[in-house]
Amino acid sequence: MVSSKPCDIAVVGAGLSGIVCAQQLQRAGYSVVVVEKSRGVGGRLATRRLSGVSADHGTRYLEAQGPYTEELIPILRDRDLVKSWTEAVRHVSATGEIKPPGSEPYYVAPDGMNSVAKFLAEGLTVWRGQRVTALTPTHSNTRWTLTLEPMPGHAILPLRVRGVVLAVPAPQAASLLEPLLADGLPTEMLESVQSVQFDPCITAIAVYPSGTETPDDPAWNALHFDDHPSLGWLSLESRKRNTDGRRVVLLQSNGSFAQKYLEATSLEPIGRALLQEASAFLPGLEKPEALQVHRWRYARVRQGLENCPSAAVPLPIVCAGDWCGGDNLEAALETGEAAAWAINARLKQRSLAPVDFASYANTK
Ligand SMILES: Cc1cc2nc3c(=O)[nH]c(=O)nc-3n(C[C@H](O)[C@H](O)[C@H](O)COP(=O)(O)OP(=O)(O)OC[C@H]3O[C@@H](n4cnc5c(N)ncnc54)[C@H](O)[C@@H]3O)c2cc1C
Repeated sequence: MVSSKPCDIAVVGAGLSGIVCAQQLQRAGYSVVVVEKSRGVGGRLATRRLSGVSADHGTRYLEAQGPYTEELIPILRDRDLVKSWTEAVRHVSATGEIKPPGSEPYYVAPDGMNSVAKFLAEGLTVWRGQRVTALTPTHSNTRWTLTLEPMPGHAILPLRVRGVVLAVPAPQAASLLEPLLADGLPTEMLESVQSVQFDPCITAIAVYPSGTETPDDPAWNALHFDDHPSLGWLSLESRKRNTDGRRVVLLQSNGSFAQKYLEATSLEPIGRALLQEASAFLPGLEKPEALQVHRWRYARVRQGLENCPSAAVPLPIVCAGDWCGGDNLEAALETGEAAAWAINARLKQRSLAPVDFASYANTK
């Protein structure tokens, strides 16, 4: 839903941190708009379609990493949004040995990982397909004006707010913050955001013809490579959901491999090289019916911060995201709540309730 009425807070980015932040603020009575450059919500909790089937090409699975994920997973399980893959994920040693199943609980989403984000974002106003390209304080220094660059076919919308939460990867936050030094933004805030480093990742989704998905072969559903020259992860997406017998494979590179090929003009040969490597563990992968290769420039946090950078000058602004408190989904959820507290402290100091994921679906 799109509206241009006055609004208290803009949350830039509809990843998990932005969604949690917006929910917490909305529940405290603020009017909130989430502005997202992509067509959907979820950010790196991402699901793509190829040849009529889908694959989770960002976060591969959910696992309990701390109090936020521990609260969230049972709620998702009760709603059939996730199912257990614990026995089905195997680790591969540096020597290429596939280890026996471990006991770490892994959960996957039959409807796609982004269904988890959709569930959490219910009741929020999200402006999709709108990239924020600049933040400018108004002349009277009472409101932020957000400059939006819409995707083709999306309207150009005016947005003025009293506070901004940047729930985007640090390098993208830094490029929005840098011009604000001229308006008095503290240099330390920008420098701390600029100190954050990410590892990239190259992913390949490969789809095979009908009859190729055989439920018992192989005995595992996914391989987690502990120390491979190029691979980080291999999963049979066709074991997560019905693909009419077509095998669907997702490959993710490790960070150093992705760094090497990040600027490649054509990604397809890189995806084929990953398939070649993966065929040592699952024969017959070399010739997919369809192949889609994607680069994540900012996939996993290599060096992050321990708090959400924020400032009151020129106007209230706070950062959120995995990089503000760790390197995973737990950190994204936790910093979403922390950023809500931080922007609230700089605005109206309303009473904020603790996170209660079960109530998100009933918001508004
Ligand atoms: C390949 C891969 C594998 C992963 N595997 C795991 C795993 O196994 N376990 C785990 O815990 N974590 C994993 N992660 C990390 C996990 O996905 C992230 O920690 C988490 O999703 C981060 O959420 P976030 O809200 O901080 O950021 P994001 O999800 O990155 O959300 C940021 C959002 O901001 C939007 N945006 C950016 N700039 C703008 C702009 N200018 N205007 C408007 N919108 C903008 C983006 O489109 C995006 O939707 C993985 C990530 C990747 C990429």
